[in-house]
Amino acid sequence: MLQHYNNYINGKWVSASSGKRFKSINPADTRKVIGEFPASDKKDVDNAVAAAKKAFEHWRLVPAPKRGEFLFKAAKILEERKEMIGDLVCKEMGKVRHESHGDVQEAIDMGYYMAGEGRRLFGDTVHSELPQKDIKTIRVPLGVFGLITPWNFPTAIPAWKIFPALICGNTVVFKPPSYTPASACELVKCFHDAGIPPGVLNMVHGSGGVVGETIITHPHINGISFTGSSTTGKRIAEACAPRFIKHSLEMGGKNGIIIMDDADLDLAVDGCVWAGFGTTGQRCTAGSRVIVHKKVYDAFLKKFVTAVKKLRLGNGMDKNTDVGPLISAESVEKVKRYMTIARENDKVAILCGGKIPSDPKLKHGYFFQPTILINVQSHHRVAQEEIFGPVVAVLKANDLNEAITIANDVQYGLSSAIFTKDLRNAHLAARELQTGIVYINASTIGAEIHTPFGGIKNTGNGHREAGGQGGALETYTEIKVINVDYSGKIQKAQGIEWGK
Ligand code: NAP
Repeated sequence: MLQHYNNYINGKWVSASSGKRFKSINPADTRKVIGEFPASDKKDVDNAVAAAKKAFEHWRLVPAPKRGEFLFKAAKILEERKEMIGDLVCKEMGKVRHESHGDVQEAIDMGYYMAGEGRRLFGDTVHSELPQKDIKTIRVPLGVFGLITPWNFPTAIPAWKIFPALICGNTVVFKPPSYTPASACELVKCFHDAGIPPGVLNMVHGSGGVVGETIITHPHINGISFTGSSTTGKRIAEACAPRFIKHSLEMGGKNGIIIMDDADLDLAVDGCVWAGFGTTGQRCTAGSRVIVHKKVYDAFLKKFVTAVKKLRLGNGMDKNTDVGPLISAESVEKVKRYMTIARENDKVAILCGGKIPSDPKLKHGYFFQPTILINVQSHHRVAQEEIFGPVVAVLKANDLNEAITIANDVQYGLSSAIFTKDLRNAHLAARELQTGIVYINASTIGAEIHTPFGGIKNTGNGHREAGGQGGALETYTEIKVINVDYSGKIQKAQGIEWGK
């Protein structure tokens, strides 16, 4: 029986006004359809925005700790359903089962964390330069937030946006990605079952070109939070600029891992395998470039290729699988295209992988062999462009300075790592690497939800997601300064004696 999912507008599950539908399928076995979803258009977005706009008038006045109680309940329901939703993420997105469950766990963690923020949401109390005057700052919501997410974290990334947007008092119109809409529905159901008031959270399925475009250009949307490619992010920035609305953009990555000559090579290999091939390389923080000190280049490569050749491709639901499928036929084509670029344009060698696997058991899925490219130089396209697949480019460096220069020589700036036993190398790298996140003796992936997450250069536009200093609360609130003067006089700052 094909499962039918719907939009969620004003507290009700509704189909698209056009009645049209699209399907999502299992990328490990494309014969398996996950479900059918409304192919929405402008009218559906208009309905969702109108519901969110109306709900904002009441939601913004619900005390934040009370808002937190709704979010806590939603997180608890999500936790109770973790097994079921985790398996769905595995089937719909393709990442291996324990990673899929980790995706849901990240959403749960964010739910509990942001629910707690309802009892904080602190502002400042500030001493005035004038007598008998108090100043305080408070956080106020913006209004209706449009949230647009990618498919590679089907529950975690929506949760990273929905929970903080709501705790701050905004209402939401959420557009899930077209490849993983069922996982998004299960997340939204948790809010519905937690009793979130109608209109506070709305979800509209459909394409980026129609539903996404309508959201980013809608006159009653007050802010956008987007995670996805830099190309789409640029379009969103252009759409938001004429109305000067806030837009938080989290975009691509081409993350470098430096292996120094004093590194623990076994540890470094473990870190590079996880960074390069976890989630089939489809993470914004994937370690897609490894920059190795010339003295340990051969030794590292030998261990690295041995480990990568052991990785088992397969359906993520199979416990023996290490690497699942890519998301789509287009992704397989893209990775294949980069193999041609590697051979013909960049003229680099493919040390292992480089092909669609021949195993007949995998013929119904979007699989590609874990691939290592060697003799890569920094200007090569395979070292510059985000491939978003199981492909790692290995580069050689003469010393730490050159390794850092190579690591920084890309348009992106999300995550980076260094493996070294030398404290000086570690600290110098941490200071010089141009990324939002740096790891010492760890992989480039695995951010924790209570630390600010995001990048610089073409990865981000200055906002951060998740918790901590400069994190999501900054995105989803404006600061209002409230001045209370109890002197009974019109006092003037800066010593002005006007009218005397
Ligand atoms: P994408 O093609 O940019 O799509 C992301 C979302 O934007 C999808 O929901 C998509 O809808 C929608 N969209 C597409 N065109 C739009 C438009 N004109 N207006 C509004 N929305 C539009 O990216 P993706 O392929 O899903 O995700 C992979 C990318 O995300 C990679 O570059 C990866 O590095 C990045 N990423 C970044 C982070 C981070 O935190 N920095 C985290 C994860 C992923 P459809 O699905 O309907 O096309």
